[in-house]
Amino acid sequence: MANQAEERPARLAEPRLARELKTMEAMLRIACRDRHGTADGLCDACTALIEYAARRLALCPYGAEKPTCANCRIHCYGPRQRERVRDVMRYAGPRMMLRHPVLAIMHVVDGRRPAPPKPNEGLAAAATSAGAEPKPESTVAAGPSPDGTSALTGTDQSAPSSAAANRSATNGCRSSSFSPTPMK
Ligand code: SF4
Ligand SMILES: [Zn+2]
Repeated sequence: MANQAEERPARLAEPRLARELKTMEAMLRIACRDRHGTADGLCDACTALIEYAARRLALCPYGAEKPTCANCRIHCYGPRQRERVRDVMRYAGPRMMLRHPVLAIMHVVDGRRPAPPKPNEGLAAAATSAGAEPKPESTVAAGPSPDGTSALTGTDQSAPSSAAANRSATNGCRSSSFSPTPMK
């Protein structure tokens, strides 16, 4: 049976996910070149961040139906990565419209779609409508995260906080809309 790493390229080939990864990489290149002085490609830190984002995307429980990470109700990024993505988006977001207008517009369009319910919320709603007691959220099976932790509960190996805290936390991608001015 193929492992997660082997399956990742196939998952990321899905057009919606591929475009999202391309958008993230474009923003990282802008920020890396301007702020880290990288002439071509990405520095080590930015390479690590895009690889992290790719792992998250590949195991996003929403798959092709995913909202923008800014609108996500799961928020699977760890705190450090979340803050780094927020910082990159604050810087590169306003510059995307000039340098990558198609990606920028598509991201804005994606951001206007309402976020679907969490997959476990869907299960609870189905159980309720069928007359069954919905399971508490913490007992519903969660999909794997790229790091082998629970993507649905938003836990991360690097996250010291509890699952509950993670659920209530906002993702760094919250600033991913391409506003003409940086997010505060
Ligand atoms: S933050 Fe949400 S939408 Fe983005 S990859 Fe994680 S689970 Fe998917
Ligand atoms: Zn960099």
